[in-house]
Amino acid sequence: MLFNEIIGQEKVKEKLISTVKDGRISHAQIFLGNEGSGNLAIALAYAQYVSCSNRKEKDSCGQCPSCKKYQKLIHPDLHFVFPVVRNKNFKKPVSNDFLKEWREITIENPLKN
Ligand SMILES: [Zn+2]
Repeated sequence: MLFNEIIGQEKVKEKLISTVKDGRISHAQIFLGNEGSGNLAIALAYAQYVSCSNRKEKDSCGQCPSCKKYQKLIHPDLHFVFPVVRNKNFKKPVSNDFLKEWREITIENPLKN
């Protein structure tokens, strides 16, 4: 996900980009917002930007090996934890049990979450 694919949230994007430029990236951050706020998209764009090997002034390159992995949501530094429910197939479910479906849904429409 690129920052330029996200409409609005300019101040948030600038703030996040400045943390990278200043070398002051927090070890943990929460991106909290209502459905449709684009918080997941911004978190994904930020993670991609942080790891991009050829980042630009205001966005990641979208072309380097790291960016390609982030775009497929398969970068080894990218981890997801989301709510899951128990069902007949999963007595003790964890997020990774549903990671394939999560990736498909998130790649299809990252701005919806
Ligand atoms: Zn890149």
